[in-house]
Amino acid sequence: MGILGAGVGWNLVRQGAEVVFIDAGQPGEGVTNWTFSWVNASNKTVRKSYFDLNVAGIAAYRELATTIGPDSWWYPSGHLRWADDPAVEAKFLRTAELLADWGYRVEVCTGAEVRRRLEPALTMPGETPVLFYPDEAWVHGRNLVGRLVGQAVAAGAEHRFGSAVRDIGTGADGSIRTVALSDGSSLDVDVVVNAAGPSASHVAGLVARPLPMRREPGVVTRISCAQVPFHRVMHAPHIEIRPDGDGSVLLHSREIDALIDTIEDPAELGRLLHASARHVVPELGDSRIVQTRVANRPIPADTFPSVGALPSVPGYYEAVSHSGITLGPVIGRLLASEILTGKRDEMLADFRPERFSP
Ligand SMILES: Cc1cc2nc3c(=O)[nH]c(=O)nc-3n(C[C@H](O)[C@H](O)[C@H](O)COP(=O)(O)OP(=O)(O)OC[C@H]3O[C@@H](n4cnc5c(N)ncnc54)[C@H](O)[C@@H]3O)c2cc1C
Repeated sequence: MGILGAGVGWNLVRQGAEVVFIDAGQPGEGVTNWTFSWVNASNKTVRKSYFDLNVAGIAAYRELATTIGPDSWWYPSGHLRWADDPAVEAKFLRTAELLADWGYRVEVCTGAEVRRRLEPALTMPGETPVLFYPDEAWVHGRNLVGRLVGQAVAAGAEHRFGSAVRDIGTGADGSIRTVALSDGSSLDVDVVVNAAGPSASHVAGLVARPLPMRREPGVVTRISCAQVPFHRVMHAPHIEIRPDGDGSVLLHSREIDALIDTIEDPAELGRLLHASARHVVPELGDSRIVQTRVANRPIPADTFPSVGALPSVPGYYEAVSHSGITLGPVIGRLLASEILTGKRDEMLADFRPERFSP
């Protein structure tokens, strides 16, 4: 049960549906716990409808934080991005202009201003342009999933944790009827939501549904320090870095992801991330690596989310997406509404599961 399954289930329970959460492991311990977890739309300019969905994702987080309270999972402190290469810097500035044209809030600061106003512990040249996206955030995914599932269970949802879905049974008309679990039990159901993250293709296969996905692993490292010396999620040159709660920092880099197939030992990848982070934030000099993990991104083949009903298998729905952290609450709300009312929201028009039908 990651952010997507928890989001759909929580919304269904609030509207009176009977829900059973099923997870082969424990809630929130899949890729939702091994992610950079940056809530944003500034990195989603590839298609306007995708950008709009991500903007709705940020708005859905603000609403959720008001509804359930923000404690220990919601950190809306904005996002900083800068480069050390003139060509990359020019690209970032062009993107910021486009985003401003689309009505998305962005401030262009200098390194000196950022150190004075926002993050004194950073080392960047004083004259470097730094983009500040004030409406972006980071989320503690595992804590949020725990909160959503906990509330849903308190409101009557059932759960089967530690049990994998082994089979999905359909009736003579092809509609969903049963789910068989690895503990030998079977559930009678009307609806199945495939929110299995990187394993979604396998679960789709249980109803003979092809869901092509990319292989795009990423590596993240958690480090511990006495006190986190900065406040917000950042894309610095060569390293992405964010707080991860008390005394914990999380590191990621697309450049290090590109080494996953050549450097076999994840610990070595972690050491490279740690070295880059200490370069940007020297106060992390005393920090130590706690854990490094390679995780698969749940990315449908064309890179966009797959969300909604599959008309050829009545009762089968998908909630599969990269950027699932940003999109979790909005997908949860839209898909729960579609399941209960049958109405398809226009916002998901470009992200329908049937585009992968043979
Ligand atoms: C390195 C990296 C960086 C990322 N950075 C960002 C970011 O900055 N911003 C962002 O928005 N997104 C980011 N993402 C993507 C984001 O983390 C995911 O899209 C999101 O966490 C997916 O959540 P999920 O609920 O689909 O999957 P998961 O959290 O993996 O949950 C799926 C659950 O399904 C269970 N499951 C699987 N198969 C079965 C089965 N057969 N039976 C029962 N249970 C099963 C698993 O145990 C798991 O708990 C990143 C991902 C990676 C890897």
